[in-house]
Amino acid sequence: MTISAKITLAALVLLASLDIRATRSLTRFEYHQNHMGTQFNIVLYADRNDLAEKASNAAFARVAELNLRYSDYRDESELNELCRTAADRPVRISEDLFLALSLSSEWSELTGGAFDITAAPVIRLWRRARRIKEIPDQDYIRKARSLVGYRQLQMDQKARTVRLAKSGMQLDLGGIAKGLAADEALAVLAREGIDRALVAAGGDVVTGEAPPNSPGWVVGVAPFAALQKTPLAQLVLRHAAVSTSGDAEQYLEIEGIRYSHIIDPRTGMAIIGAGSVTVVAGKGSISDPAATALSVIGPDKGLRLVDSGLSKFGPLAAIFVQVENGKIATRESQGWKKMMKYE
Ligand code: ADP
Ligand code: MG
Repeated sequence: MTISAKITLAALVLLASLDIRATRSLTRFEYHQNHMGTQFNIVLYADRNDLAEKASNAAFARVAELNLRYSDYRDESELNELCRTAADRPVRISEDLFLALSLSSEWSELTGGAFDITAAPVIRLWRRARRIKEIPDQDYIRKARSLVGYRQLQMDQKARTVRLAKSGMQLDLGGIAKGLAADEALAVLAREGIDRALVAAGGDVVTGEAPPNSPGWVVGVAPFAALQKTPLAQLVLRHAAVSTSGDAEQYLEIEGIRYSHIIDPRTGMAIIGAGSVTVVAGKGSISDPAATALSVIGPDKGLRLVDSGLSKFGPLAAIFVQVENGKIATRESQGWKKMMKYE
C-alpha cells in the first residue's frame, strides 16, 4: 500500500468516526396527532428537544392546513366549496388543491378510471351502507354513477382553475390525501433542519434520511396481523414511501361477502375480495393512489401495470396479499424484492 493510500484510509476512518460522534448526540423523538380521520405519527432524530418540538408542530400544522383543503367531511373545506361553486363556472383554487386534483387525474387516465376522485357520490352510498349494514339499492347506485367520471373534472393548468361539468358532482380525495399530507409533513421537517424522520398516516408511511448508524427505517408489512406471527415483509426505507390499501380494516360483510371501502367507479360496486395491496414508491403521493388504484384493478392487470407501465413515477413495486382458507397468499411485482430495501 502506498503512503497516500494509507493516509486516505486513515482519513476515511477518521471521517467515519466523526460521523458516529455527530450522530451519537441525536435523540429519538416521537409525536402523535389525529388528522384526516387517522393518527399521524412523526418519528425524528434531533439534537435538541426544542428544535424537535418546533419542527413537529410545524409539520402537524401543515397537515391540518391540507386537511382544510382536502377534506370531504368538513363543509368549509376548499374541496367542498369547490363542489358547491364549480358547476356554474371555472373556479380558481389553491396550489395544494390543484396538485391533488392533477395527480388524481393522472392516476385516472393511467388506470382507465379505476382510480377516480369523482366517485364520491358512490363512495358516500357505500359509506352509508357500512353504517346501516345494507347493500345500496341498484337505483341509487345508478343515480350516483351518473355523476361520476374523471373527464367531467375540467382543469386549466395555466389559470389554475377547475370546472365540474355536471351539477351535483362530488369529489373525494380519501385515496390520495394522506400520502400527499405525509410527504408535505416530511418536507416541513426537512425545512426545519430535520432530515432523519419518518411520517406515518395510517397505512401511508413516508421516510426521509435513515436513523443514525442505520441503513434505513424498518417498516413491517403485516396487513393481516391477526393471522401473522411475524410481518410478511420487513422493508428498509430511506427517502421512500410505502402505502397499504385494502379491506383489512374498513369493510361491510353481508352473507359472508366482504365489501371493501374501495369501490370500482366504473360499476359503482364495492370491491369484493380485495385483500390488501402494499406499494413502495419514492413518495407518498405516488404510493397512496397507486395502492388504492391497484385494489380496484386486481393482481393480474395490476402487476402488469406496475411492471411495465408506471416508470414515469420512478421505481415502484407492489405486493398483493389475500387470505385464502385462513392462509396468507401473496403475489408480487418483479421489483418487489429489490424495493424492500429502497434507497
Ligand atoms: P385508507 O387508508 O383510508 O383506507 P386508501 O388509500 O385505501 O385509504 O383509499 C380509500 C379511500 O379512497 C376510500 O375511503 C374513499 O374515500 C376513496 N376511494 C374509494 N374508492 C376509490 C377509487 N376507486 N378511486 C379513488 N378513491 C377511492
Ligand atoms: Mg390510497
